Amino acid sequence: MVSIMRKITMSAPIVEMDGDEMARVMWGWIKKELLEPFIELYTVYIDLGLKKRDETNDEVTYQAVEALRKYKIGVKCPTITPNKDRMIEYGLRNLLPSPNATLRSRLRGTIFRTPFIVSRIKPLVKNWRKPIVIARHGVGDIYEAIEVEVHPGNKLSVFLGEERIYNNVFESRSAVILYSISEASIVDFARSVFSYALENGFGVWFSAKDTISKKYDGLYKEIFERVFNDEFKEKFKEKGLSYSYFLIDDAYARVVRSIGGFVWALKNYDGDVASDFVLSSFSGSIALSISELYSPDGVYYSEASHGTVQKHYYRYLRGETPYTNPVGLILAWAKALEKRAILDANNELLLFSRAIPEAIAEVIDVDGYGTPDIAKIADPPLTVVSTLDFIRLVRRKIEKKLF
Ligand code: NAP
Ligand code: MG
Repeated sequence: MVSIMRKITMSAPIVEMDGDEMARVMWGWIKKELLEPFIELYTVYIDLGLKKRDETNDEVTYQAVEALRKYKIGVKCPTITPNKDRMIEYGLRNLLPSPNATLRSRLRGTIFRTPFIVSRIKPLVKNWRKPIVIARHGVGDIYEAIEVEVHPGNKLSVFLGEERIYNNVFESRSAVILYSISEASIVDFARSVFSYALENGFGVWFSAKDTISKKYDGLYKEIFERVFNDEFKEKFKEKGLSYSYFLIDDAYARVVRSIGGFVWALKNYDGDVASDFVLSSFSGSIALSISELYSPDGVYYSEASHGTVQKHYYRYLRGETPYTNPVGLILAWAKALEKRAILDANNELLLFSRAIPEAIAEVIDVDGYGTPDIAKIADPPLTVVSTLDFIRLVRRKIEKKLF
């Protein structure tokens, strides 16, 4: 058994992006209870909490992008994407954009979402035995579209150079949307999907609706095929892995009949929808999963797949003990520490980071403890513990394993 005698040190920092509400509260607890007792945690701290983003006119989000480019590895806490209600609640000066969308589009990243599988929680789709990793293109679709509302009598013409390619006079109030996507960004997306799959021993599916969207979806299909054939076909063959394209409706039908064990690559919007469907069908709780962003120039950050868990936060503010599941946030930290450790050849940090998911799985599967969201769906059922107690159980496991 390995035994680490003193606090683990780090030679380079992790970009730590703090967030909002219940997630922010749990973030502080995880650092204090689970990380700082074992590591001289070295981070570049950036507060992406809504207040700070508003005060700085979103400058902090751009600072995060720069810091990520510089230090390569980051970890992000869920943040509020403000809407009109939030503007009133927080007395905001501006309706700021989603920091996630800014980070993703600036870094041109691909998001990989992976379920965390424990044996006491059976997937709702009973034949799923291996993870299904959703790879979501981080750019394009509605997230960067131009949307306009037009009114009766409005005339809309679209020109491509001199050529008028669209012309319409609207009879009733309508909405119009224009998407765009670049070939370069799809090439980056395809490359990161195939590289991730190869590294982790997964086959790849890509799905879209090129029968209807012959240009936009058609471009994706063509580029995936080209990148695969030119750069990955041989390497996939050596490992006995394959790539398939399916129409998106066909893909959904196949996914529920599959046993899992592949990366399912999707466009931005499709990936947003499919990841909630797949993750909740795996574990029944979005907290038992992780999201990772890989950029084509080597930037990486991890995050929980859930949001700020607003309702739980209001209960916490009223003085109730939180029973929110911290697993997604803990896994996000574990992954960022693991990536840092690999990049810096820091063996102790690597051992520590890899002990975290093992410890979580043992607390749930062997000792039988969990927060209510998973306790009720586990088989056999779990003893319910609070957020803080769960974090402390994981800490004790790690102590036993490594120190
Ligand atoms: P959410 O925070 O994910 O929570 C939705 C519901 O899911 C919760 O009310 C809770 O259900 C359950 N849940 C989520 N995480 C959980 C956890 N760790 N443990 C136990 N249950 C959990 O989504 P939302 O309420 O739609 O969004 C709240 C805020 O988060 C919004 O302002 C949104 O902008 C933001 N958001 C941020 C990100 C991000 O930064 N990546 C992603 C999504 C949403 P019960 O109430 O039934 O217990
Ligand atoms: Mg979503």
